[in-house]
Amino acid sequence: MNVWLNGHILPLEKAHISPLDRGFLFGDGIYEVVRFFDRTGMAMDAHMQRLERSLQLTQIKGFNARELPALCEQLLQAENLRDACVYLQITRGAAAMRAHLPPDNIRPTVFAMAHAYGALDTLTTAAPISLSIQPDLRWHRCDIKSTSLMGSILPMLDGRAHHADEAILIRDGFVSEGSSSNIFVVRGNKVATAPINTDPSILHGTMRTLAIDAAKQLGFDVSIRPIEESELATADEIWVSSSGRVLASCVSLNGKVFSTGKPAKMACAVINCMRLAVENLLVKTP
Ligand code: PLP
Repeated sequence: MNVWLNGHILPLEKAHISPLDRGFLFGDGIYEVVRFFDRTGMAMDAHMQRLERSLQLTQIKGFNARELPALCEQLLQAENLRDACVYLQITRGAAAMRAHLPPDNIRPTVFAMAHAYGALDTLTTAAPISLSIQPDLRWHRCDIKSTSLMGSILPMLDGRAHHADEAILIRDGFVSEGSSSNIFVVRGNKVATAPINTDPSILHGTMRTLAIDAAKQLGFDVSIRPIEESELATADEIWVSSSGRVLASCVSLNGKVFSTGKPAKMACAVINCMRLAVENLLVKTP
């Protein structure tokens, strides 16, 4: 496997990072994950904007977010992948000694790798997903796509008791988002997802935006509003959106069969609509 490290493509075994890297010592870094179909990145502009925003908010300097598409393209070519997920991580870099406050002249460590993922024709049904409901233990700035992810990992570990793949996080009685995704709750024709610009915040999910657009296009009644935890128990469908999963549909909640126990009707309609949007994009970029 070849990876990208600081401007070079090289075999994974040769990609060495200092133990003094602040990503390793402090989780002082940010990341992006981009889904590719036939070498076209889904929502690439939104990923670039979010990366730029994360860099600004964390004051990590020395990487230009506009390099993202070319970097991904180089990596996909090196790995001979067309349908894939690219993971990019930028840490603040390695200093001469461990200190919370970084030196001014520190240079970032940029690392990226790609893995094969399903082709576009896998987006004809929403994938089934098992969820558990867990307290949101995270900090206030979840709009920053930070590599410090202990607050996301612990609820997922607790969800293992229910064999859950993902956790729905609850803050003060309301659904904030998934541990690595955004959450949609559906009742009848009404689709709801939580607002992003709150304090504490949640992540501006790129697939969240595409799923909202698709649901509106299909004529569903979409609202961006706070979702009470109690709405989960009475929901007809719960959707999970993220670049890796695109849109998954809840089949099990807290270890019990949810709704019909199969990917739900509206979720499948939305993912098909998202697939058509990508198809159109591919036609325009041969
Ligand atoms: N929310 C959190 C906490 C995430 O970690 C992610 C993805 O990693 C998302 C939402 C979904 O973001 P996107 O749709 O851009 O992948």
